[in-house]
Amino acid sequence: MKIASFSTKSYDRASFDRILPEPGHSMSYFDAKLDIRTLSLAEGHQAICSFVNDHIDAAMTKKMAKMGIRLIALRCAGYNQIDLKAAAEQGIKIVRVPAYSPEAVAEHAFALILTLARKTHKAYNRVRDNNFSIEGLTGVNIHGKTVGVIGTGAIGRAFCRIAMGFGCKVLAYDVVENEEMKQLGVQYLGIKEVLASSHIISLHCPLTPDTHHLINAESIALMQDGAALINTSRGALVETKAVIKALKTKKIGFLGIDVYEQEENIFFKNLSEEIMQDEQIARLMTFPNVLVTGHQAFLTKEALAQISSTTLANVTAFEKGEKLVNEVVAGK
Ligand code: NAD
Repeated sequence: MKIASFSTKSYDRASFDRILPEPGHSMSYFDAKLDIRTLSLAEGHQAICSFVNDHIDAAMTKKMAKMGIRLIALRCAGYNQIDLKAAAEQGIKIVRVPAYSPEAVAEHAFALILTLARKTHKAYNRVRDNNFSIEGLTGVNIHGKTVGVIGTGAIGRAFCRIAMGFGCKVLAYDVVENEEMKQLGVQYLGIKEVLASSHIISLHCPLTPDTHHLINAESIALMQDGAALINTSRGALVETKAVIKALKTKKIGFLGIDVYEQEENIFFKNLSEEIMQDEQIARLMTFPNVLVTGHQAFLTKEALAQISSTTLANVTAFEKGEKLVNEVVAGK
């Protein structure tokens, strides 16, 4: 099939190019983010391959159908950016990569925790300036802390295993409890209890209408003073305004985020020569106890290989009329 890939980075291209010849598909790579204007680049293709910030609304699905696009192959797990109902109405199928090294994201969440807990981001800059003073670098142990995990899907479970390995007490909230985690010693509680009892809270649930701004002024008030909040899931799980306020009052002691509510206009771009227009991210950068990474938690060699192979397998299954095991269906 002819696939038009949007928001393509060099690492995507390298990873797809490595395996493309085998299934016999061809891929046109476009740097451009997918939107109603750039969609015309996909003329002559039968499938679109898109990423987390490529929003697809009803108007776009209509245009896609007219252009002969029959498949949207997401090279990510989340699908909150797609109007699934509109795509279904146009007869366009959607497939995704449900799990691509959940460990990659879980390990990144832990990297954020360890960096913030031991201030290695500050130490790195200091020693490069020949400043070997350790004044102000006092950290906290992770061992013995209570870690609250919201969402124990593939990534949340990998995160729980790491936390158990560190000797943490692990509490969890999920709409569906997981037996394997219970056997491991993870204790499921209501969300309020998890928020109230944890030193570190890590978010691993999807963004849905139910989870939008899950972390807001009200839920922050339940947390322990100085709690650490880690978000590697989706930016809008957290109301940034409320978190900034809580950082100022020290209610939140550490914030580690790989995703950001307004990331669409910022992440995946080099804006180093520009004036930052987003007031909230600019404010977040001023806190010494905040660490922001630009949606890179998934970015490991292992995960990229899994993403490209599953994406192309999804396309092949569609082309052959086989069962789409990774199909995303509206209302499910
Ligand atoms: P998953 O589908 O395996 O697990 C999601 C879990 O969340 C499930 O157990 C589900 O029951 C639970 N859940 C659903 N609604 C909930 C709610 N209201 N409260 C609590 N739990 C709820 O997904 P996953 O592979 O573990 O991925 C989790 C999220 O991580 C994805 O939705 C995506 O947004 C994000 N993600 C981020 C990156 C990154 O690079 N930063 C990469 C991959 C995925």
